[in-house]
Amino acid sequence: MKNQIVLPKNVSLDSLIDELKKYCVKSDLEMVRLAYDFAADAHKGQLRFNGEPYIIHPLTAAFILALMRIDISIIIAALLHDVPEDTGITLDEIEKKFGQDVANMVKGITKLGKLKYRGVERYLENLRKMFVAMAEDIRVMIIKFADRIHNLLTLEAQPPNKQYRIALESLEIYAPIANRLGMGEFKGILEDLSFKYVFPKEYEKVKELSDATIAEEGPYLEKIMVETKNELKKAGLKVIDIHGRKKKLYSFFQKLKQRNWEVDQIHDIVAVRVLVPEISDCYAALGIIHKLWRPLKGRIKDFISQPKPNGYKSLHTTVFCDDGRVVEFQIRTLGMHEEAEFGIAAHWHYDEKKGPPRASAKDVGWAKELARIQKEVLNNLSDLDSLKIDFFQNRIFVFTPNGDVIDLPENATPVDFAYHIHTDIGNKCNGSLVNDQMVSLDTALRSGDVVEVIVDKNRKGPSRDWLKFVKTHVAKQHIRQYFNTQKKHWLATILPMPLKK
Ligand code: MN
Repeated sequence: MKNQIVLPKNVSLDSLIDELKKYCVKSDLEMVRLAYDFAADAHKGQLRFNGEPYIIHPLTAAFILALMRIDISIIIAALLHDVPEDTGITLDEIEKKFGQDVANMVKGITKLGKLKYRGVERYLENLRKMFVAMAEDIRVMIIKFADRIHNLLTLEAQPPNKQYRIALESLEIYAPIANRLGMGEFKGILEDLSFKYVFPKEYEKVKELSDATIAEEGPYLEKIMVETKNELKKAGLKVIDIHGRKKKLYSFFQKLKQRNWEVDQIHDIVAVRVLVPEISDCYAALGIIHKLWRPLKGRIKDFISQPKPNGYKSLHTTVFCDDGRVVEFQIRTLGMHEEAEFGIAAHWHYDEKKGPPRASAKDVGWAKELARIQKEVLNNLSDLDSLKIDFFQNRIFVFTPNGDVIDLPENATPVDFAYHIHTDIGNKCNGSLVNDQMVSLDTALRSGDVVEVIVDKNRKGPSRDWLKFVKTHVAKQHIRQYFNTQKKHWLATILPMPLKK
């Protein structure tokens, strides 16, 4: 059974370089060495909770990303990701040595800080920070996933209550976000590493079932794969790869619960994955497989013409093979495969033809998508029900003309935005452009809007009417404060004695 990413046991600089050599140029490798030396020096003498030298942590995070063939600037930022947080070195120094782009990513991670658990409110505050960081630069989140994966890999050394908390958070927050970003491989890894700490008994049971199935089906599947490959070749189809994939344990667990633990009802514990060059080849392969073996009714799924909400594309079919055995096939192009494994990270995946592409975080569609992801994640959190609603739900993400992200409550207006930037900008705000269109000050902003405030320097102060539509506490407070001060001034002019504070 093949897994896309085999998680490393002992990572060294050499093993990272070896991995990077598969897709990087020499000057990139030099930069990586520099970043490693810089980080190793900064973390010198520091140990992680498991007694290892600290540098092993950023190094492994970088290595995990290198396995995804991810853009070199992200690898460098991963190597440096804990430097400003844990050492005396500043972001300025990082910017001087490694440039603004890398420094910005490191800054994003530093802003997230260490997710320390101090009650539910703090938990939500961290979550909120995470979404803001993600809106600013999704690459920060990709590094955060690698960071979290290594923390989970070394979770054994933590005390049990911490193990549970970190694993639960990974299951409830990180994995769903990875899923919504289409990063199937990261989602699966995050879930499986967390599973045994959150549900230890169930984990043992599921693992046993999975191992037994693989022992039973494995050799048979090998036979089927050889047969499939031959038939496809005979038909003149080019097969890029054909491999078995086993269902990840946590996703197996979810399915077992749905099916009342009836293993016989689950047909995709193991599956055959067929990678072909073109979309038309996918359908051709499906036809050939159906000619060989009879498909199960209602089990043919065309996620190519109708992709899943997170963008997943493939053809799935379940067929009766010899002696009544049932096998699931997943047919896709290489491009679809990489999208399914890496999702949004595929935008920074090295492509020899196109070079490293850039997806813009300041994309309007993306901000809307983010607001949706946020709602979904929040709706799935287990025991924060009452708090999460007023504290955090229904936030929107809007942008300044410079591309900075600001999160506001739903239906917030340009006035809320203005006060968020600065009290004076709020007090003197006279108009607003949203996506380059002039709008009234009570317009409800939406995720993805680019908002500009028009300031009138001669304006005396806010309008009392604004209180009728502003949504944020900050805006209300500043407007009231302004009028209270005015009142005091006015009283001072008519009263004989100065007002006491
Ligand atoms: Mn870290």
